[in-house]
Amino acid sequence: MGRSFALPATLGSLRNYVDGEFVETGRTFDNVSPIDGSVLAKVHEADAALVDRAVRAARRALDEGPWGRTRVEQRAEALHRVADIIARRFDEFLQAEVADTGRPVEQARKLDVYRGIANFRSFADLGKTAHGEFYETHLPDGSELINYTKRKPLGVVASISPWNLPILSLTWKAAPALICGNTIVCKPSEETPSSAVLIAEAFHEAGVPPGVFNVVHGFGPGSAGEALTTHPGIDAVTFTGESRTGAAIMQAVAPGVKEVSFELGGKNAAIVFADCDFEPTVEGMARALFTNTGQVCLCPERVFVERSIFERFVAALKAKTESLKIGWPDEPDVAMGSLISREHREKVLSYFRLAVEEGATVVTGGGVPKFGDARDNGAFVQPTLWTGLPDSARCVREEVFGPVCHLSPFDSEDEVLRRANDSDYGLAATVWTSNLSRAHRVAPQLHVGIVWVNTWFSRDLRTPFGGTRLSGIGREGGRWSLDFYSETTNICIKV
Ligand code: NAD
Repeated sequence: MGRSFALPATLGSLRNYVDGEFVETGRTFDNVSPIDGSVLAKVHEADAALVDRAVRAARRALDEGPWGRTRVEQRAEALHRVADIIARRFDEFLQAEVADTGRPVEQARKLDVYRGIANFRSFADLGKTAHGEFYETHLPDGSELINYTKRKPLGVVASISPWNLPILSLTWKAAPALICGNTIVCKPSEETPSSAVLIAEAFHEAGVPPGVFNVVHGFGPGSAGEALTTHPGIDAVTFTGESRTGAAIMQAVAPGVKEVSFELGGKNAAIVFADCDFEPTVEGMARALFTNTGQVCLCPERVFVERSIFERFVAALKAKTESLKIGWPDEPDVAMGSLISREHREKVLSYFRLAVEEGATVVTGGGVPKFGDARDNGAFVQPTLWTGLPDSARCVREEVFGPVCHLSPFDSEDEVLRRANDSDYGLAATVWTSNLSRAHRVAPQLHVGIVWVNTWFSRDLRTPFGGTRLSGIGREGGRWSLDFYSETTNICIKV
């Protein structure tokens, strides 16, 4: 890959995929490169009529088409075929993901495209293990009841995904929804529409019947997102994105009392105890803070460090941060790419300014790198560390979603637990300690969906994933996904 990060030439303009057909519309918007600001492609925005066509096609495929009559083994085979095609066309997916997001090629290779394939394969296999429950009940009059539960699809699922991990997020929703027998209409983020088109091509090539998997492009309010989430024909919404968007979607589905699964924002705490393994902790924290330029919902933005090692830890993390190479996605050893867009960079920079106004000490970063080439038209930003803010500062309470954190000292376990839990969010936390008892004591007391100890990000895909408070509703992953994407009927028989 050279220094022009274009989309695969075969993609052309980015079309919707509805009822088994690739559909152009009269209205397009630009897909802009965050690396150099160039226009990557025109995207065909779906209007309410096209969204309606997609939802109706999804309903037909379920009620009248072959999908509603498939067995789980057949659906698993179909998902494995899709995974095979993504694996065969790996480089195109890689190219599209890098062009849309500006992330390092190696990250997209090991994380994004890999997880896209893994999501289809793991849910295809897991779906075959889904089962019901069985109870024998003895009543006071001596009679007996047997109860067994039967799983059925929820129906037509609307999927709304964000820009930060485009392939991963879309496949994380589509794979379990489809293995459970649902049909789906996916709206990828307007910032990252390309890999969704490639996934649609994979479904098309895999011979998955029309209407089962659909993609509509567009924005949220007044566009495809709103048209999809307010459509009376959908049965559930699975959404990943900002908490306030989740609130808007909740209102949109309230009249129809639709099921929702929400994976939302975070303001994650990391707790570094003085007994941590120092160097690996500095390395691990840098990875947690700056992977994907800090644009992972799981990245820590509040770092609490035990006072006796605070100064040393801040100095070591500063040195590590300043050693990270920011640049072209294919540069050797590049650690950080661009943010997703100029608009998002403006939001991140507004927090950089606010931190100073709130009285932060900027340990490192706080600005925009200068390259002297086309990247100056992109959306790059410096990795940034702050200290000196009170826990009440907006920069310590609000999600920035960039390569930045605030570090603050603490003196006791009780104190740090109270401060870490003092958040409107509750997605993830990391604990760094070499004391096993402490790890087991502290982790369960954190009010979040996942706690990592001495590591970050990787986990078994069969485990539950989700957040508390503003970070979400419900859990996905493993059997939790199978439960969300299934409707269950209890059948109770008098023996
Ligand atoms: P966003 O909420 O702005 O957009 C997400 C999606 O929602 C996009 O496809 C957008 O077009 C659509 N949308 C926006 N308004 C809508 C509306 N009114 N109706 C229907 N659809 C609408 O989020 P983003 O900026 O793309 O992503 C970043 C956010 O996502 C961060 O807050 C991050 O923490 C969160 N996130 C959470 C997780 C998680 O698992 N908890 C994972 C990734 C990202």
